[in-house]
Amino acid sequence: MAKRDYYEVLGVPKTATDEEIKKAYRKLARQYHPDVNKDNPKEAEEKFKEINEAYSVLSDPQKRAAYDHYGHAATDPNFGAGGFGGFGDFGFDGFGDIFDMFFGGGRSSRRRAGPQRGNDLRYDMEISFEEAAFGKETTVEIPRTEVCPTCNGNRAKPGTPIKTCSNCNGTGQVQITQNTAFGRFVNVRTCEKCGGEGKTIETFCPECGGSGRVRRNRKIDIKIPAGMESGSRLRVAGEGEAGIRGGSPGDLYIYIYVKPHPKFERKGYDVYSEIKLSITQAALGTTVSVDTLDGKVELRIPEGTQHGTSFRIKGRGIPQLRGHGRGDHFVKVRIVVPTKLTGEQRELLKKLALSFGEDLSADEKGFISKVKDAFK
Ligand SMILES: [Zn+2]
Ligand SMILES: [Zn+2]
Repeated sequence: MAKRDYYEVLGVPKTATDEEIKKAYRKLARQYHPDVNKDNPKEAEEKFKEINEAYSVLSDPQKRAAYDHYGHAATDPNFGAGGFGGFGDFGFDGFGDIFDMFFGGGRSSRRRAGPQRGNDLRYDMEISFEEAAFGKETTVEIPRTEVCPTCNGNRAKPGTPIKTCSNCNGTGQVQITQNTAFGRFVNVRTCEKCGGEGKTIETFCPECGGSGRVRRNRKIDIKIPAGMESGSRLRVAGEGEAGIRGGSPGDLYIYIYVKPHPKFERKGYDVYSEIKLSITQAALGTTVSVDTLDGKVELRIPEGTQHGTSFRIKGRGIPQLRGHGRGDHFVKVRIVVPTKLTGEQRELLKKLALSFGEDLSADEKGFISKVKDAFK
């Protein structure tokens, strides 16, 4: 991508005074600071970097003169004609401190060199309806970073010296003087040589390459408690990624997904299912065998049971999570009317109908005569 002209970036003419450049920069920097552009942070960050780069050149008389003469070629680190070897790196981090001052900070954690907690990990697990009800013990294999077992996280090859950092004299911090639009600032920074640890390592640990951490596939035993619901998550403390510089490890979160059951539905801690009864079973009453989480249970159906009636089987639902007792199992009755009858069954039903005092003559006449009757 072609670089935009620095004057164009800041929206100032080539003849702009230092004061005009400073003013334009402050206005744009506030406008495009990533902290105030939450909607489009990526674009804002790009823009912000561009503004900072332009300002860092145009605010420096020597760099500005080189830029006016040679254009962007002067910013190439290999550029030697200007006599100052280019402008070096315009890292975004290099401007953090300035903006801490007028946006009220909030970036200090980036520079912290102390122990850092490891990342949390997520593992999605699918379990059956029954496993969700009664719990499950299982083992999962998680790829994660762990503290290097060879160097115990101190990054040096065992037996080799760890020296005090010569760049920061072991303090982990260095002072940097910056010339900015607001004057001269002395900033305390994390030492780049030792990363803030105050120590330098002569020979890095061969196993972790000096990072202090290694990647491992780790088998972890998981105990899923009884009563878990789909979409809930389980926290396994300390089983996430290893911390940095002696920080505590992150946690592992198991996200639970419960497979639907072919017969059961769950509402809270209660289980719902359906049974089909014939018209005679419903009318005369019967005993049926009902599937529950605990297997078959005999259920007494009283005579005269209506379609849609629910029966409760107490205590056969889901065990309560972190509690005692269980929900109930509700059985809903669906009465199935026969669709195919033998001649004999038809006769029996007609007899039954007559005994109920129902008039069957209208149904016997057929469709045409019924229509005729309707017009009489
Ligand atoms: Zn190591
Ligand atoms: Zn250092």
